[in-house]
Amino acid sequence: TPLVKKTSPIPVAQYGGRHQVTMLPGSGIGPELMNYVQEVFKYSGAPVDFQVVDIDPKSDQANELEDAIISIKRNGVGIKGNIETRSESTGVRSRNVAIRNELDLFVNVLHCQSYPGVPAKQKDIDIMVIRQNTEGEYAMLEHESVSGVVESMKVVTQENSERVARWAFEFAKKNDRKKVTTIHKANIMKLSDGLFLEINRKIAKEYPEIEHNDMIIDNCCMQLVSKPHQFDVMIMTNLYGTIVSNVVCGLVGGAGLLSGRNYGDHYAIFEPGTRNTGTAIAGKNIANPVAMLNASVDMLEHLGHKAHANLIKSAIRKTICEDKVHTPDLGGTNKSTEVVQRIIDHILEADVRVW
Ligand code: ATP
Repeated sequence: TPLVKKTSPIPVAQYGGRHQVTMLPGSGIGPELMNYVQEVFKYSGAPVDFQVVDIDPKSDQANELEDAIISIKRNGVGIKGNIETRSESTGVRSRNVAIRNELDLFVNVLHCQSYPGVPAKQKDIDIMVIRQNTEGEYAMLEHESVSGVVESMKVVTQENSERVARWAFEFAKKNDRKKVTTIHKANIMKLSDGLFLEINRKIAKEYPEIEHNDMIIDNCCMQLVSKPHQFDVMIMTNLYGTIVSNVVCGLVGGAGLLSGRNYGDHYAIFEPGTRNTGTAIAGKNIANPVAMLNASVDMLEHLGHKAHANLIKSAIRKTICEDKVHTPDLGGTNKSTEVVQRIIDHILEADVRVW
């Protein structure tokens, strides 16, 4: 049964071909958020069909993971919730990491922009967090060399550092960004972070029009909380990336708002920026649908369906910035379905019809 009752006909896409996209609902709030995406796509006429691949968080079935990877390889594009990884179980690899590695999605991009009208710790934030997405501390190479002594490897390669640095500077150039800041801990991790920083400095020389500086990760966390407006484009290794992404999401309104993009040379996956499972709030109709809807907007932009992307983007803005229909994470009292319903109302009221 549809979550949102509407009598208006569902439009049929008129322009261009339809795209097939892999949908990995994941665990926790993932499945309910994906239902909202499907519902919003129906009413906006987005010409996308989803191939849903469920991955049971409790099972360690390798074939489910393989099905997901094959499906994304076939479709080229995926939208994804977080797949729970039990931290107490040492034998189980994170399937989120496995998917990103297998598809070589070497860069994660989080555009952290304030929504006027949404209660937040800081106003007028506009920061791009660009993160190496496949190596670093996420190499998952840990072992207990002798009893009571555990070693964990952080892997930094010249090739992937160059790829992500070039991606960041190219992005800055194309989008008229003025400054790139490399975040690191090269004073302690002289070889691994040292290599990352050295490569960033080398690539920066090819872009003299863009200012480049660097900052130690600990100072960066303090600066983000106290003086975030100094940052424009930020680039960093994997673990610093997840921490910084969560800090900047926290600055503009939490885990429920922003989306993150994962790119490689061949494939792309779109997901909520902070990659939370949200198990504790699942099934309660209180999860903020906006982060996943923003991921779906990113996906439409990537596929070239700009008009549909803009239609949904503008409906989201009206709902949360003007109507202030907010779920509890933003201090509101609205249900998830009320937010989705209002977004659909704005889509149906829009002057511009994209079908
Ligand atoms: P659990 O997965 O059991 O909720 P957790 O503490 O690991 O445990 P995360 O999933 O990492 O929680 O999420 C971090 C916080 O962000 C939680 O408080 C969660 O409720 C909140 N959160 C994540 N996604 C959303 C969302 N879409 N809307 C509202 N709150 C969210």
